[in-house]
Amino acid sequence: MKYKRILLKLSGESLMGDRQYGIDNKQVLQYANDIKSVYDAGIEIAVVVGGGNIFRGLSAEKSGMDRAQADYMGMLATVINCMALQNALETVGVETRLQSAIKMEQICEPYIRRRAMHHLELGKIVIFGAGTGNPYFTTDTAASLRAIEIKADVVLKGTRVDGIYTADPEKDPTATRYDEISFAEVIGKGLNVMDTTAFTLCQENKLPIIVFDMNKEGNFLKIAQGEAIGTLVK
Ligand code: UDP
Repeated sequence: MKYKRILLKLSGESLMGDRQYGIDNKQVLQYANDIKSVYDAGIEIAVVVGGGNIFRGLSAEKSGMDRAQADYMGMLATVINCMALQNALETVGVETRLQSAIKMEQICEPYIRRRAMHHLELGKIVIFGAGTGNPYFTTDTAASLRAIEIKADVVLKGTRVDGIYTADPEKDPTATRYDEISFAEVIGKGLNVMDTTAFTLCQENKLPIIVFDMNKEGNFLKIAQGEAIGTLVK
């Protein structure tokens, strides 16, 4: 196996499946099965889940809400998604721990870095909820931050697109995909697959990111085994 410890980032929207809002349990179960295949291969996995399928601070601000208040609501939304993923993972027989950056003692542990690492060493999948715990950040940044903290080997950003393109492939048919690209180029060209803070954190800490299509069954395992799928940012 190429990696010992992986941080997987799943956006909230990816949990919607074909729905326009909320959570599609079938989709979440498919992700759980994919994650299990990597887990069964002996790789340690931590997951950061977004909340955009339920609530986004920035969008709420545009309709008049206070940004910080809205961002806290967005962070709570991520915890709902984390609980859905936790449920699905346990349904397929994987032991998990959910840690939240905002304390919610009745449903999950608080985020404690050393404890998270210990869970991983004991073979549990750790799900990180509530992003960084701070407004004005994103769960992409949370993914980079947590990955660095727990000394993951790579951040895998699972999306519905199979990598980073020269332009938005849904709008520009001439767009081509990068197999590999540097952080400087991604930031310089404004290729907004993740936010700049997330990229910068990884760049400064020499942590590679792979952007790949998580909806293609088996892709996650192939990447974990070292196959060149998606776009590698380093
Ligand atoms: N959020 C935040 N701080 C964080 C992470 C998330 O304030 O550290 C809020 C923010 O409002 C964001 C929402 O939570 O819009 C959902 O997260 P995100 O948009 O990153 O989810 P995704 O796009 O991955 O579904």
